[in-house]
Amino acid sequence: MEFNGLYVVATPIGNMNDLSPRALEVLAGVSFVAAEDTRNTGTMLSRLGIKKELVSYHAHNIAAKSDYIISRIEAGESAALVSDAGTPAISDPGEELVRECHERGVRVTPVPGPSAVITAISASGMPTGRFTFEGFLSTAVNSRRKHLESLKDEKRTMVFYEAPHRLKKTLSDMFEAFGDRKIVLARELTKFYEEIITTTFAEALKLYDTKDPLGEFVIIVDGKKEEKPALDEDEAKRLFEGFLKEGLSKKDAVKKVAEATGLPKNGLYDLLIK
Ligand code: SAM
Repeated sequence: MEFNGLYVVATPIGNMNDLSPRALEVLAGVSFVAAEDTRNTGTMLSRLGIKKELVSYHAHNIAAKSDYIISRIEAGESAALVSDAGTPAISDPGEELVRECHERGVRVTPVPGPSAVITAISASGMPTGRFTFEGFLSTAVNSRRKHLESLKDEKRTMVFYEAPHRLKKTLSDMFEAFGDRKIVLARELTKFYEEIITTTFAEALKLYDTKDPLGEFVIIVDGKKEEKPALDEDEAKRLFEGFLKEGLSKKDAVKKVAEATGLPKNGLYDLLIK
């Protein structure tokens, strides 16, 4: 098989069996591998029996290395971009390199695979129809506060990455910004100590008061729920009487009141019939 351009290759987030056969084929076939950490990737490649030139590509050498990598591709070589774990460019280096490839007409081929955000939300049991990926919160107090403030009315499920030593602080800041909410802590995904904990901010803070969080975490936060209108008892009773006068049974009248007010049938049943 002939390789050309840049391949964006996802690697495992824990379990090495999650490396796809296609990723293996690409890593073995390209001219060189651009890696966030050449030592980590070197270890992975040697476990896979692949000997390959490694070029370091990390947060602090992006500008110089992007040009170097693309120039080599333009001269006829092919490259794979990998990060330490998961999918490159997702809270990892890669975005600029990929953008510059597009700008310079270099072909970019994704080789999809594990990513903690998708792995976590797919197994969380939280609403997945619409969600927002928020990555890491800044460590700077002001931008962290602004970020959380901008999300307090967000209705979609929110997914965050966090380092274990900052988990408690982040949960506590989120509790303050959002109030108590249902959350899922997806810990050590695909690894031996994998755990998917459904809890709330208050409960999680209590739990980590007595023990330190260990391992890698994805935090999934339930979106803000629509507030239910307060039950206007007089209005509900007035409507109910009206429907009874029209000849409806009590049960049908409750149903009609629920439709008219948007209030839950159970609560109305208790109020109007019991
Ligand atoms: N590019 C990676 C991806 O596609 O998932 C993410 C890299 S980011 C620097 C690392 C963060 O991802 C960790 O701090 C943690 O929040 C999350 N993460 C990575 N591996 C994980 C795992 N096995 N279990 C839970 N979270 C993980």
